[in-house]
Amino acid sequence: MASNKKVLVLPGDGIGPEVVGEVRRVVDWMDKRRHVTFDLSEGLVGGAAIDKHGIPLTDETMADAMHVDAVLFGSVGGPQWEKLDFGVQPERGLLRLRKEMQLYANLRPAMVFDALADASSLKKELVAGLDIMILRELTGGIYFGEPRGIETMPSGERRGFNTQSYTESEIERIARVGFELARKRSNRVMSVEKANVMESGVLWREVTQRIHDDEFPDVQLDHMYADNCAMQLVRQPKQFDVIVTDNLFGDILSDCAAMLTGSLGMLPSASLGAEDPTTGARKALYEPVHGSAPDIAGQGKANPIAEVLSFAMLLRYSFDMGEDANMVENAVANVLAAGFRTGDIAGPNDKVVSTTQMGDALLLELDKQSA
Ligand code: NAD
Repeated sequence: MASNKKVLVLPGDGIGPEVVGEVRRVVDWMDKRRHVTFDLSEGLVGGAAIDKHGIPLTDETMADAMHVDAVLFGSVGGPQWEKLDFGVQPERGLLRLRKEMQLYANLRPAMVFDALADASSLKKELVAGLDIMILRELTGGIYFGEPRGIETMPSGERRGFNTQSYTESEIERIARVGFELARKRSNRVMSVEKANVMESGVLWREVTQRIHDDEFPDVQLDHMYADNCAMQLVRQPKQFDVIVTDNLFGDILSDCAAMLTGSLGMLPSASLGAEDPTTGARKALYEPVHGSAPDIAGQGKANPIAEVLSFAMLLRYSFDMGEDANMVENAVANVLAAGFRTGDIAGPNDKVVSTTQMGDALLLELDKQSA
């Protein structure tokens, strides 16, 4: 019987295919041991697509992405494509996917596994057990607002300018995603803006409060200025559950939160689009936060955990398979507790394992959990 879980896999460049390869093994494991079958198709993106087709994403692959339930993305880019025109660089493939799938909600969890608490730049007790979610608005705000540009003023001096702008409906939809996420977690939302100095922030605060009062009164909502939030993230990060914020502040705060966890090789993300009015399903793309790591590509050194945790997010958010997502996340926690380390997360006395050995360890853990 054909599976109703259609996933398009776009491994991309550099370590992308290596880490996606380990997820494919988890998918095979789920097929055999949990009898959950995914309908996987694969496409080219980034440099790999440029080499074959001359562009970073073909219309066919874009159409495929629009017709599946979820896209699992690896990473794109590398030195061999850096000299190309800006409009055909590998990253444009990812930007096109985000734009056409209208992925407006970017979920960036920052979790610290106990076994890695020492890898954080903060004291262990501040981060051990940390589990927060930064929800960043991804398609609006100052990165897209018009007018924008660099102009020469009558004086001859040049002026660069951008526009921060949010409509009520843009704020409403991201706020709803935040409250829904909180309901599945610790039921707390911190809405972050700068209402003290920006009108867009005043509207953000007002609309978020209204959506809360009308639709999510059971969720705890607080408001915080973005500069304070940056301070609180490094002072007492465990005070947060879900942080909802705009594109610009989310860009900065999510990177700040990411570093609390110690390594790029551990960080998953999800980007969600609008709900289909009839099925309720959302367009979704899952990807690790890291790039294509050309310095270690092809050497079996990449940490596959960020990609594997992105797949766990796919299970949870696209297919409502929370139990299976927990299994995958527990397998990661147990493998780390057992001392398995790829180079990026290894201490001076740790034995370093390869990408595939980390995958082997994860599959053995999954076996143990399902025994
Ligand atoms: P990067 O994330 O690729 O690498 C930064 C450092 O972290 C490197 O030393 C790398 O070896 C290490 N690293 C990253 N992921 C790792 C993993 N899973 N396991 C072990 N070590 C890991 O960032 P960069 O070096 O700034 O960029 C390299 C290329 O990736 C560039 O072409 C850039 O444009 C592209 N990039 C793509 C994406 C994406 O596809 N979403 C994101 C960021 C960068």
